Amino acid sequence: MAVRSWVVSANDPATDFPLQNLPYGVFRHEHSTRIGVAIGDQILDLRACATDGLLRPIASEWVGACTSEVLNQFMALGPPAWSALRRQLTVLLADPQVQSRVEPLLVPMRAAEMHLPAQIGDYTDFYASIHHATRVGKLFRPDNPLLPNYKYVPIGYHGRASSIVVSGREIIRPSGQTKSPTATEPVFGLSRSLDYELEVGMFVGPGNPLGQPIPIDQAEQHIFGLCLVNDWSARDIQSWEYQPLGPFLAKNFATTISPWIIPMDALAPYRVPAAPRPEGDPSPLAYLKSDDSTHTVIDLKLEVYLQSEKMRKSEIKPVQLSTGNLRDLYWSLAQLFTHHASNGCNLRPGDLLATGTISGPEQGSEGCLLEMKHRAEPIKLPTGETRAFLEDGDMVSFRGYCQAPGLPRVGFGECTGTINPPNSSPV
Ligand code: CA
Repeated sequence: MAVRSWVVSANDPATDFPLQNLPYGVFRHEHSTRIGVAIGDQILDLRACATDGLLRPIASEWVGACTSEVLNQFMALGPPAWSALRRQLTVLLADPQVQSRVEPLLVPMRAAEMHLPAQIGDYTDFYASIHHATRVGKLFRPDNPLLPNYKYVPIGYHGRASSIVVSGREIIRPSGQTKSPTATEPVFGLSRSLDYELEVGMFVGPGNPLGQPIPIDQAEQHIFGLCLVNDWSARDIQSWEYQPLGPFLAKNFATTISPWIIPMDALAPYRVPAAPRPEGDPSPLAYLKSDDSTHTVIDLKLEVYLQSEKMRKSEIKPVQLSTGNLRDLYWSLAQLFTHHASNGCNLRPGDLLATGTISGPEQGSEGCLLEMKHRAEPIKLPTGETRAFLEDGDMVSFRGYCQAPGLPRVGFGECTGTINPPNSSPV
C-alpha cells in the first residue's frame, strides 16, 4: 500500500494531490506570494519551511531558490536539487513526529489565490498528435490531410508568453480579421469560431546555452514537470491568416495553464512502453531516436468538460465532451525537447513547451471542437443547447490524472477558463 500522509485529505482516493504527487505552484495568501506544494486540499508553504529550518538537510543554495516568488531559480537547479527537496518534503508530510511543526505551515487551498508558477520567458507550441493533424488536415485539404514532412520533423511555432494566464482567469472573446469563403473582402469583428485545444505543457529546467543542442538521451533531465494547457484558438481568424507563416493572432490572445507543475518523478510510476511506429512509417532521424528498449511514455488520462451559462444557472454539472491520453502522441516529450534545441536554440528555465492538441484515433477523443465537425451529430448539451464552437458564458475545464493498480491517483487539478464578451469581464 502507498505511504500515507498525516494530512487526512491527502489520503482521499479521489484527491489529485496525494503524498506521491507533491506538485509545485505559486500562491498568494495574506498579501504574500510564495512557492508552495499541494497536498490534499492544503498547500505547504515552502518559504515558511525554509525559515523554520525544516529544509536543513538540503544545500542552502537550493533552499534559497525555494523562498523566491517564482519557480525559475529552482527549475534551473536540475534533478539533484529537485529530488533532494522531494525526499525531504515526503518526510515532512509523512512522518507523524514532525506533524506539530509542519501543520501550522499549511494554507487551505480555498484561502489561497494561485498565480503563474514561473516567469515564462518563451512559449512554444508543437503539433505532436498525428490524429489531430490528420483530422484537421482533412478539413482544409481533403485529398492530402497529412503534409509530407509530418513523420520526419516535429512541427511547432513560437507562441506568445505574455498572454499565458493561470486557470480561473476569464477569457475575453477576441476580435480579428476573418473572411468567409463566399465573401470577396475580409471584415474585422468578434471571432464566431472560438475553440479550445487540449494540451500538456512541459516546463524547462536547466536548459542549454545558445549553440549547444541537447542530446535525446539527456532531454528528460531538462523537464522540470508537466501542466495542463488550453491553447484557445479563434478558427475563423486562423483560417484567413495562417498561410504562409502559421498561427498568429488566432492563438496569442490567451493561453490557460493549470497552476500546479507535476514533477517527472511523480509521473515515473505511470510510464508504459511506447507503441512502435506504425508499419511503413519512416524511422526517426538519428538525433531523435532513443533506445527503443527503454522508450516509455506517460499513461496520462485527459478529460474535457463544458458547462454553458444556462447549465450553470440550472445547476447542471459540466458535461464531458471528450477524453484523451498523452501516450497517443506521435512525438515523445523528449523528441520535442531535443528537436527544439537541435539547431542550438537555447531553452531557458521557466520556458514552456506545449505538445499541441492531444487527440486519439476514435470518436470521443478529439482534443478540440474543430475536430468534432466530422461527427454526424452536433454536440448537444443537457439544456438542449447545441455547440459547434464556444459561446459567451461557456466554461471549459480540463482534468488530467495518472492511475494504475496499487498506485494512488496523481492528478493535475483543473485547467479552467470561461468565455466572456469584451468589456464585461472583471480584470
Ligand atoms: Ca495548439
